[in-house]
Amino acid sequence: MVTSLRSLPVRRPFLTATLAILALAGLAAGALTAEPRAKDLFGAEKLPAVAAAQSFGFYSKGCFAGGVAIPMDGPSWEVMRPSRNRRWGHPAMIALIEKLARDAHADGWPGLLIGDISQPRGGPMLTGHASHQIGLDADIWLTPMPSRPLSMAQRESMSATLMVDEKTHLVKDALWTTRHTQLLKRAASYPEVERILVNPGIKKKLCDTVKGDRSWLRKIRPFWGHDYHFHMRIGCQPGSHGCKAQEATPTDDGCGKPLAWWFTAEPWRPNKNPDAPKARDIMTMANLPKECRAVLDAPNPASAEAVTYHGDGLPIAGNDLPIAVAEPPAESSAEATVPVGAAALPASASAFAPTPKIGIPLPRPRPEN
Ligand SMILES: [Zn+2]
Repeated sequence: MVTSLRSLPVRRPFLTATLAILALAGLAAGALTAEPRAKDLFGAEKLPAVAAAQSFGFYSKGCFAGGVAIPMDGPSWEVMRPSRNRRWGHPAMIALIEKLARDAHADGWPGLLIGDISQPRGGPMLTGHASHQIGLDADIWLTPMPSRPLSMAQRESMSATLMVDEKTHLVKDALWTTRHTQLLKRAASYPEVERILVNPGIKKKLCDTVKGDRSWLRKIRPFWGHDYHFHMRIGCQPGSHGCKAQEATPTDDGCGKPLAWWFTAEPWRPNKNPDAPKARDIMTMANLPKECRAVLDAPNPASAEAVTYHGDGLPIAGNDLPIAVAEPPAESSAEATVPVGAAALPASASAFAPTPKIGIPLPRPRPEN
């Protein structure tokens, strides 16, 4: 918990100012009338909404149905901070993390330590993270999985390795390896992945050292924090008509002026208003897509295990369809913004087959703007 909260408040003066304005403008109305806060409602959910997998809203303002869990342990991953119960995501996200774990292991990375993905039904969280709300974001540690299995207690307490010097904002050269670069390149290689957030120092290290194919660097985006983990974000998935896409990243490698800005004083000025409420602290259900009410009201699955996605060919309970995970082209990230087709979704997308009709209103396609 400490790790994801660390340094967020003081490093985001502009975001905080924006949020403060939002609070004054509209969100405060909900807070004043003592409406329950959305983070309390979503934070209390222990299991996902049984429904076809769908994301509603935006990464920082939404929820999702039909979530599945990544197993606490896999052949080449371990879930960290298990008590948070944030190992849930859209089936495509979970399948992709498992694929990354396998591919990275084959590349020579010992295994993934998996941080927060989403709450079972997404939504704003009680602590940490503005995003991670629609099942399409995942934090993965830059610390490799140790050779000896971590106990549940160790997963709660083990510290991650800070990769960046907090004064210079540069990567600690003694810690960075080509394996780190390869891990990020592998993650960026998947068509589903639209962006990967890293500390500006890490972006700079890649800009300075990556030779040959640099096309994948456009997906690597500098951001505050993200100095012990990287944040992998996939695009809206087929069938999620109420999912609001993020604008595409620029097509260049992002190593020029926008990166230079991060090495000026401006991004690091102290937050003038550190006590301003954050969006998650004041959001009510009225601030989320209307489908999120139905997501909260949807029934639970029989158990967490019944909706845990084992991407090793084993079917999910109650689903006799074979697991078929999409195999995106290995290295190409040039044409990488095309989402996987519906046919390429893992069969766990229909883990609840036949899909119960639970009255989640079908969202209308929104016009482009
Ligand atoms: Zn994150």
